[in-house]
Amino acid sequence: MLTDYHTHTERGPYTVPWLENFLRVAHERGIAEYGVSEHGYRFRETAHLLDNPWTRERRTQSMDEYWGMVEQARKAGHHVKFGLELDYIPGKEKELEDFIRQYPFDYVIGSVHWLGDFGFDLSEMKHLWSGRDVAATYDEYFGILSRMVEARLYDFVGHADVIKVFGHEPDDEVFLSEWYARLAELFARHGAVVEISTAGLRKPVGKMYPAPGLLRACHAKSVPVVINSDAHRPEDVGADYDQAVAYARGAGYRELTVFTERRRRSEAMG
Ligand SMILES: [Zn+2]
Ligand SMILES: [Zn+2]
Repeated sequence: MLTDYHTHTERGPYTVPWLENFLRVAHERGIAEYGVSEHGYRFRETAHLLDNPWTRERRTQSMDEYWGMVEQARKAGHHVKFGLELDYIPGKEKELEDFIRQYPFDYVIGSVHWLGDFGFDLSEMKHLWSGRDVAATYDEYFGILSRMVEARLYDFVGHADVIKVFGHEPDDEVFLSEWYARLAELFARHGAVVEISTAGLRKPVGKMYPAPGLLRACHAKSVPVVINSDAHRPEDVGADYDQAVAYARGAGYRELTVFTERRRRSEAMG
């Protein structure tokens, strides 16, 4: 089977008719399980988890509106999973855990988008990359990602090497392969599941997340995977899945992970 658990409906209202646009594309592309995973920072209930000038401007909705959309869609007979993409913030483990526990999520995606107040994947902050040491920035990013996995708060790791989003990549292959080995070992030790995301293909870097070296290292350590689009508009649901499935198979994967009420199981991929 195929699933798409990492999607954002935030560009429209939290209504069933808007959600149905995403469900329609999922159906057309043979996605058996579709799930929504809004960004946590959009909700007033998360102000204590992540607060900076950028998120403050965008914190306009409530979790009740969001959950209400999913609940109504289910009442209308749609099969839709309820997820969230929640920024990991070092030091906020207890608050994150308490927040997650309050809602009937099928899965919660752990992502790192912030190095302090530097939202490194935001086009508005892209200029802040200039003058930064790329390897040191990777060290910082992978360090936070490691702490996130050690905290075991999440169901899967979102876009594990999104730090390359604008094409800033260290040219030191040894530096990267050492990080990949360390991360794969850590993912395995803490029971993490890793996302293969086609979103990178639609970003300046033009590559899948994670890099082949990291994905192969994960397979060598038997780290399970999930395939997602990170769609922010209906037409991107299930985008480039042919490529993603081939990519996963090329790394040795034959199964993907299915989530229900934060429990997981494996299913044959494709
Ligand atoms: Zn993300
Ligand atoms: Zn996302």
